[in-house]
Amino acid sequence: MTKEIALTFDDGPWGLTTPRVLDELIAQKIPATFMIWGEHAKQYPELVKRAAAAKLFSFGNHTFSHHSLLEIDEEEIRKELEKTDHIVKELTGEVPKFIRPPFGDIDFNTLKIVNRPIICWSLDTESWNHHDVNQCLERATKAKDGDIILMHDYQEAEAEALPKIIDYLQKNDFIFKTIPDLLGHQLNEEPYIYYSRNKRDKIGFK
Ligand SMILES: [Zn+2]
Repeated sequence: MTKEIALTFDDGPWGLTTPRVLDELIAQKIPATFMIWGEHAKQYPELVKRAAAAKLFSFGNHTFSHHSLLEIDEEEIRKELEKTDHIVKELTGEVPKFIRPPFGDIDFNTLKIVNRPIICWSLDTESWNHHDVNQCLERATKAKDGDIILMHDYQEAEAEALPKIIDYLQKNDFIFKTIPDLLGHQLNEEPYIYYSRNKRDKIGFK
């Protein structure tokens, strides 16, 4: 039975590692989603342009300076999102339709301000934590149908583990989807927090 999965990459683009991630995904025609850190996009605009030109990827807003949205006020939240919307639109032609909050930090008030789908995850390779190729792969082997996997194109271990992760998932009958393709029409409904294709939360929108 075919299973679906979404690879999501946070914190890029990053000059050392994003090119390796793009090389791999593009060579194998693997759809994925990049959650763009605005400051990094400003620093490496060519990498975002290259990703957009591949017509394989979707782009989310991961804020401009990567502060927790729970630690800044409403005006700053709006600015953080607008600045990244602007730069992603300039580089890809489209404003991101969804947000990945830094550190996954989100609460009732923040959701109301953001008013866009929030994409969290159901599986984390934790490259940011252990920086180890084998541990990235081992965590990826826990994947289930409909999972959203949190990865970081900012992390060397992740770039190195990626070919092995793709190979493992393909051999185990997973097909790769962007976030809009995995979630489908759900994304056009009023904003939820999404953890996977089958798990979403409607905190604050009752
Ligand atoms: Zn991040």
